[in-house]
Amino acid sequence: MVQLNASKVTRWDQHGREHVVRVRRAGVQRIVRCDTCGWRISAQFLPWLKAEEHLAVEHQATVDPAGA
Ligand SMILES: [Zn+2]
Repeated sequence: MVQLNASKVTRWDQHGREHVVRVRRAGVQRIVRCDTCGWRISAQFLPWLKAEEHLAVEHQATVDPAGA
């Protein structure tokens, strides 16, 4: 996966709704924020993994549009 300054993780839930978690670089940290519920953390490592985990646990959104 290419690490850009700003990126996002998109997943669909079983109702076909799209959920987006944005990952933004802030120094050595990355700010991870969910568009759907406003959840937000800062993570130094594996922000995309935390984003995917949040989407799966909180929104049951596990379908990767890119992999469909
Ligand atoms: Zn959320």
